[in-house]
Amino acid sequence: MESRPPLPASTDVLVVGCGPAGSATATWLARAGREVTVLDAATFPRDKTCGDGLTPRAMLEVDRLGLGSWARDRITIEGLELRGFGRSRRVPWPAGEHGGVGSAVRRTVFDDRLRQTAVDAGALVVDGVRVTGVERGDDGEVTAVRAGDDRIACRTLVLADGVRSPVGRMLGRTWHRDTVYAVAARSYVRSGRHDHPWIGSDLELRDEAGAIQPGYGWVFPLGDGEVNLGVGALATSSRPAGVAVKDLLHHYARSVRADWALDGEPRSVTSALLPMGGAVSGVAGPNWAAVGDAAACVNPLNGEGIDYALEGGRLLAELICSGAVAGSGRAGRDLTRAWPELLRSTYGRSFAIARDAARLLTLPQFLPLAGPVGMRSQALMTAAVRCMSNTVADSDRDVVARGWRAAGSIARRLDRRPLFAD
Ligand SMILES: Cc1cc2nc3c(=O)[nH]c(=O)nc-3n(C[C@H](O)[C@H](O)[C@H](O)COP(=O)(O)OP(=O)(O)OC[C@H]3O[C@@H](n4cnc5c(N)ncnc54)[C@H](O)[C@@H]3O)c2cc1C
Repeated sequence: MESRPPLPASTDVLVVGCGPAGSATATWLARAGREVTVLDAATFPRDKTCGDGLTPRAMLEVDRLGLGSWARDRITIEGLELRGFGRSRRVPWPAGEHGGVGSAVRRTVFDDRLRQTAVDAGALVVDGVRVTGVERGDDGEVTAVRAGDDRIACRTLVLADGVRSPVGRMLGRTWHRDTVYAVAARSYVRSGRHDHPWIGSDLELRDEAGAIQPGYGWVFPLGDGEVNLGVGALATSSRPAGVAVKDLLHHYARSVRADWALDGEPRSVTSALLPMGGAVSGVAGPNWAAVGDAAACVNPLNGEGIDYALEGGRLLAELICSGAVAGSGRAGRDLTRAWPELLRSTYGRSFAIARDAARLLTLPQFLPLAGPVGMRSQALMTAAVRCMSNTVADSDRDVVARGWRAAGSIARRLDRRPLFAD
């Protein structure tokens, strides 16, 4: 067995977690010349419960990291085939600043490639090491982390430790379930249409008893003999998902078996919760910040988080390199305010309106009324895909873009729970 490299006694930036958020942060910091150590509890290549879908927004970041052709060579996805309420529609990804193509790469492969990108950039990445504690100074800044008997001193700590964010919790990061979240399950199935360049997205998701669920079913072709097939349902603490999501997945697989030429039963069925839309507080302190799922950076309308993890990693690296943490403890000059403010200015409008729209979907009456109306119009569904995939660019001036931005500003002002609250 390969022995792991020794851990350093100290490092400039310590990143906990080597998923998309941790790898991206480490890559950009290392490319900027910073000394970075990344620790991950898992041994790579490791799996992550996910749909494996890379939207155009994610592909923009994948391109920035230099992995665009690598991902496109695996499979290029042109858009969504939406089905439901007696109709089906093909909606290409919106063209424009986000590029207009997507892809899908299983996470055992994608995350391993991202990890290697961080190593190539100069980061020290050590997997199989679980961070078990943090040490703090008088001003609340983190001075060191503990991993069992090992202690590593650090100047800056990045929490990229995923949905549960165990290290974030030690520092007071809290997830608020009164705001909309999702429960989702994925599987892999052999398919005669594994290289079909369109994502299947079923908006009329029904359980075995025929009850409509506030969510959708997906089939993401992987181009390697299998598809990623899954289901996700929205919930809040007052309206919890009333469905066993793995049963729902098997039922959904039966309903699309012929269309997708599925061969065999879904395998590797796993499920997970998704905090969404910045529904967390305590995402930063004097010299530490949470990124990716740890900061609930997941789009409430489609459950994507890879793009926000990659994007967030780049933004956080830029903030750290800008000198925002030059001296810890100075109000307004450190990450405590700077990071949540940057998250709010980047995602505030789009996450606030997406949270409201997703909350509407959890009302049992809403989808049966709105679904058939939406599916009747190609123009409406094209606009819906553009808004749901958050590919309305700031520079877009058309009616849909203006309307979406205006609705986002209003939603932010009316929000009972501010995003990324202190
Ligand atoms: C069913 C499902 C389907 C989804 N489908 C999609 C999709 O198709 N497209 C999309 O864009 N998003 C999708 N998402 C969301 C996406 O999976 C996440 O947003 C994304 O993985 C976030 O990346 P991350 O780097 O923040 O966290 P993760 O990828 O979860 O990485 C966190 C890392 O931290 C490590 N870690 C945790 N604790 C410690 C510790 N104490 N010490 C050391 N290491 C630690 C873990 O081992 C892990 O490797 C889906 C999610 C679910 C649940």
